[in-house]
Amino acid sequence: MTEKIKGQCLCGAVRIAAKVDNPRLRACHCDMCRQHNSGMFVSLETVPGSITVDGPVKIFKSSEWANRAFCETCGSTLWYGMNHDGSKNLAAGLFPNAGGGVLKVEFFADKCPQGYSLAGDQRKMTTEETIALFAPEEE
Ligand SMILES: [Zn+2]
Repeated sequence: MTEKIKGQCLCGAVRIAAKVDNPRLRACHCDMCRQHNSGMFVSLETVPGSITVDGPVKIFKSSEWANRAFCETCGSTLWYGMNHDGSKNLAAGLFPNAGGGVLKVEFFADKCPQGYSLAGDQRKMTTEETIALFAPEEE
């Protein structure tokens, strides 16, 4: 069942709403996510086109294909976005109880530091598998 959820950054200046439908959580262990978040980045699957954002958002273009957004005031991570279509993978931590999502997949699982790991039976995708999933089609 589709449900509307509301979240906010640490200081409350940025407010985000979205619709979810049995949402999945996705953890990413890549080097860039860890540098930006001091650990894995956990995103929440939302219904496409349902996201609304209000507040002082800063967007950093982190690569040719992606960007990362954060609150200008408190620095909270807001999303990992795609440059080509503007889609956003919202930070699960903005929402109470991580938006009610369940962890289903870990990206770049082989990049996870040796000192910790996530329990559970979610799919763990290697760097090679993750890149194959997201790489743009060859022209
Ligand atoms: Zn803030």
